[in-house]
Amino acid sequence: MFAAELGLPLRFIELMPLSRTEVLTEENFLPVGEVMRRLREKDYLIPQSNRREGHGPAKYYWLERTGALVGFVGALTNVDFCESCNKIRLTSDGKLRPCLGDHLETDMKPALRPEINDAGLSVLFLKTLKQKPAEHSFHTNYQPRRVMTAIGG
Ligand code: SF4
Repeated sequence: MFAAELGLPLRFIELMPLSRTEVLTEENFLPVGEVMRRLREKDYLIPQSNRREGHGPAKYYWLERTGALVGFVGALTNVDFCESCNKIRLTSDGKLRPCLGDHLETDMKPALRPEINDAGLSVLFLKTLKQKPAEHSFHTNYQPRRVMTAIGG
């Protein structure tokens, strides 16, 4: 109701292995399919297949009775989750990460210090882009070396 009243999109994001290990328990994991099932007990979910809010991978539905827009991010259970990914991330210590769910990083500092080297930056950037995996590694016993807050959402 809160989101509906204020016209705010609400997003459910599955727990990803990017947190402290004590948080990553079976009990804490709720698949988006289960969230949708519970919502369908109380409301109608109308798919908004062409709708995008920001640049994230959420799939949106309109809750007809409640009047709220709800997005679902099935990072673990949606097999197509990475299909339209357009993200890379720069950490606060100068590492460019082509994927949130992969340990690969490129250290950008050699092209930034002692002075900015535009050509060097371009080479490192393109190298990182070419290494971008087709999908995350969360299903292969992925252990976070950096937690989400140290990567950037
Ligand atoms: S490819 Fe990596 S960064 Fe992109 S959506 Fe998948 S997990 Fe996220």
